[in-house]
Amino acid sequence: MTVSDHPLILCPDCGAAHALPPPSPGHRAECTRCGSVLRQFRSGSLEHAAALTIAALILFVVANLFPVLTFELEGRAQSATLLSGSAALWMGGYEGLAALVFFVLFVAPAAELLGTLYVVLPLAAGRRPFRHAAWAYRMVTRLRRWAMAEVFLLGLIVAYVKLSDLATLEPGASLAALVGFILVQVWGEASLSAFQVWERVAPQTRVSQAAQSPREELTACHDCRQVVAGSEGDCPRCGAGLHRRKPGSVRRSWALVVSAAVLYVPANLLPIMTVIYFGAGQPDTILSGVEALIKAEMWPVALLVFFASITVPVLKLVGLVYLLVSVQRGSPHRQRDRTRLYRLIEGVGRWSMVDIFMISLLAALVQLGAIATVEAELGSIAFASVVVITMLASESFDPRLIWDAPHLGAKGREASHG
Ligand SMILES: [Zn+2]
Ligand SMILES: [Zn+2]
Repeated sequence: MTVSDHPLILCPDCGAAHALPPPSPGHRAECTRCGSVLRQFRSGSLEHAAALTIAALILFVVANLFPVLTFELEGRAQSATLLSGSAALWMGGYEGLAALVFFVLFVAPAAELLGTLYVVLPLAAGRRPFRHAAWAYRMVTRLRRWAMAEVFLLGLIVAYVKLSDLATLEPGASLAALVGFILVQVWGEASLSAFQVWERVAPQTRVSQAAQSPREELTACHDCRQVVAGSEGDCPRCGAGLHRRKPGSVRRSWALVVSAAVLYVPANLLPIMTVIYFGAGQPDTILSGVEALIKAEMWPVALLVFFASITVPVLKLVGLVYLLVSVQRGSPHRQRDRTRLYRLIEGVGRWSMVDIFMISLLAALVQLGAIATVEAELGSIAFASVVVITMLASESFDPRLIWDAPHLGAKGREASHG
């Protein structure tokens, strides 16, 4: 077998074609052009992955059954479960925010777990995959970025620190299950790669360099990475629509970046919550919340909130504007660094949800009538919108545009790639 007979893989971040030999355990292939991981073969088996997913599901159920935190003040106690925050926001008239918190803390993780089990269980038992397994796994991979249990845990730590000088706080019975769930999920993801699962769900139809189609005509599925000659119709493996580049990527990313930038102003100027403690208190903006933490000499948490809520959204917006402008100007410079910047923006986006989880927990815990109450304020809606819209903006951006013929503007490229 000559090198050119190996099946082709297209780099998801720069579009370069690579002919890779069959994988062996521990194998990890990186793109020679942009440095992205092309393919990874991890040591775990499907049986292992199935066992870890079942364990994660049990821990997730337990994490939802009991309180994660209990707040005691003046002989009165209030407990919060994983979903109390969502309920408290709903009661307070913030239905949209409540739905968002419910989605990222319950719907997305639950669907990810059940979808993974649906795909992996029959394979682990040595059977053929269930019907629509490819569709299920596609949904699992798409939902993963919206499942935010670990970000919630950070929000819980911030809430704990904020309340610890006001009242007595007790970790609840479900907190250990929540931590366990997060660890087992990380372990599961580290033991089996998406590449391995896809190979078992529906092996790639091999497209090799020896095939008739010239490289220019190849398209890789955005979801399962199946390589196809041509760029029409649906992916033969997972059914996703095929596009050589994400359609309307530049236009859509710009629209989302501009919306997020506009919303960033009220997100920072308007109060995000009001804490009333023994009849006294005032609305807090994100920045005044950080100031209060600094005054209380809670430096690590103050830095964390400042970084997650103020620095990360600005960096994401500035970074995306830079990527969009450089792509539109067809810049040939620093393509590798820009691809790295894109991956960074993609990775950190979700962590800005920390403040939203903190507010939802405080609103659930601090409901002691005349003694102390916490309520969400309008700024929290603007802020949550900034987080969600910037996540959608980075999802819409196609990093391969950074590498497409630099002399062509993005307009020309989008037109030619549809
Ligand atoms: Zn690459
Ligand atoms: Zn596909």
